[in-house]
Amino acid sequence: MTAEYSKIIKVLEAIEGLEGDQAAAVAEACDIISDYDAACQSAARMTARYETTALAIKKDDFGYCCPTCGRWIRVPDSWCHWCGQRIEWDAIARDRYKEERNQRRTHRQ
Ligand SMILES: [Zn+2]
Repeated sequence: MTAEYSKIIKVLEAIEGLEGDQAAAVAEACDIISDYDAACQSAARMTARYETTALAIKKDDFGYCCPTCGRWIRVPDSWCHWCGQRIEWDAIARDRYKEERNQRRTHRQ
C-alpha cells in the first residue's frame, strides 16, 4: 500500500469514541481506500505489461512461454492472453511462423 493511503487509514482508525454506524462507516471507508489502492496498483502493473515488450522464453522445440507469468503462448501473439504482457519474439520464432504461414498458403492453392 502506498504511504499516502496508509497514513489516511491510520488517521481514520485512530479516531476514538466512534460507535455503531459511525464506527462501521469508518471501517468501511478504510476498506474502500485499501481496495482502491490495490486496484490502482493492479492497473499500473497491467498497463506496464501491456506497453513494455518482453522477449518470449523458448521452452522447447514446440513452444514458448511468457516471460512474466510462465504460461504457454503462441507465435505470433502480440500479448500474453493470460497476464497481458506484451511479447517480443526472437528471430527463430518469427522465421518459423512465416515459414509455416507460407506452407499453409501453398497448400490452399
Ligand atoms: Zn503471461
